[in-house]
Amino acid sequence: MPNSTQSPYLLLANIGQLLTLRGANVPRRGRDLQEIGLIKDAAVLCGGGKILAAGPQRELLRDPWLRTNRKKVQELDCRGQVVIPGLIDCHTHPVFAEPRLVDFERRIGGAGYEEIAAAGGGIRSSVAAVRKSSRGELSKKVLAALNAMLEQGTSVVEAKSGYGLSVEDEIKSLQAIRDAARQWPGEVVPTLLAAHVVPQEYGGKADEYVKKVCEEMIPLVAKKKLAQYVDVFCDRGAFTQEQSEKVLAAGRKHGLGTRAHVCQFTAAKLKPLLEHQPASFDHMDCVQPEDVSLLARGETVAVLLPGANYFLGHKDFPDARRLIDAGVPLALATDYNPGTSPTPSMPFVMSLACTHMKMTPAEAIAASTINAACALRMQDRKGSLEAGKDADMAIFDVKDYREIAYWFAWDRCAEMVVAGKLMGLGKR
Ligand SMILES: [Zn+2]
Repeated sequence: MPNSTQSPYLLLANIGQLLTLRGANVPRRGRDLQEIGLIKDAAVLCGGGKILAAGPQRELLRDPWLRTNRKKVQELDCRGQVVIPGLIDCHTHPVFAEPRLVDFERRIGGAGYEEIAAAGGGIRSSVAAVRKSSRGELSKKVLAALNAMLEQGTSVVEAKSGYGLSVEDEIKSLQAIRDAARQWPGEVVPTLLAAHVVPQEYGGKADEYVKKVCEEMIPLVAKKKLAQYVDVFCDRGAFTQEQSEKVLAAGRKHGLGTRAHVCQFTAAKLKPLLEHQPASFDHMDCVQPEDVSLLARGETVAVLLPGANYFLGHKDFPDARRLIDAGVPLALATDYNPGTSPTPSMPFVMSLACTHMKMTPAEAIAASTINAACALRMQDRKGSLEAGKDADMAIFDVKDYREIAYWFAWDRCAEMVVAGKLMGLGKR
């Protein structure tokens, strides 16, 4: 127990249900995805931005240090509410200027994703707007999105560039992420997604663009330390298998981690991509059976993004049950972006995971906390509430954790603790 006399100590008392997600710092698979470490009538003590103790309140209050120092400790009465680790949104595209309302209406009228892209909508229309925007304008938008995410329980966000698609505009996008991250209490993991689509000016010259990404953008971004990961959209209408491998190889060569958008519309061969040790494969709507068993043996996390399926009006969703039952480690994220998933809400995504992918509420929470931390390779610090980990917590105004996914499109997040500090959201 701490012996410092000054307080940045915080005690969360009278927690009705505490979901610790405690256990080994490895992705949960199969039946283990259900293990949420539920403790009733619990308390959590934080100090110096870390969890000092989390457990049954009766035991925790008996602690000799706490008994003598109780007056120095700030206390929050949770009044029987539910406390879980801060949610981790491990896949977002927050650097954009405008909503894509024309696409929205075209889609309602029956046009498909690729048809809209071919008609000049889609990702390319966001590119034009981002190129026209200043770094300051973009960082304001990113910060607004981060704040909306925090309001709904999220304390860690992976944020991609990918609507700039030139050296200058991808750098500007990553700088906008960094500027916003510095003003936000949570943690942001920046990713370079220069290989999102082939920009208009490189029409018919995709290989040339890939060369620019690999030989100019990736080295520069690595040198400026603007990103931790390199991502690539490997699918029909974006980049081929071979081009994607080149991008990931260049990322690794320059010391960046890798991740990939795969199998959203068409199946990719995952084995060659796995050579580049990706932290995650994202979307995974149409993964091949032989690749499922391959993933079950590896550490790469499958990140499912049902918000995109919902917003595109698809009947089909990623087959979470098949992946879980085969032992593939799985995480959830919003895919926050202007074209296919304009939601900052992890609880809504968790609800979709339950209703459309037949995940249990417990699985949805594990996939949004400890497994999402694994997808960003930060499970040593994030994703569970155990002594020594970062004190990031979401307090929901519900009596039972299953309500978090049950009350869909209803923001029940009452308060956040980030790095041991109460955020004072003013919703309790
Ligand atoms: Zn995405």
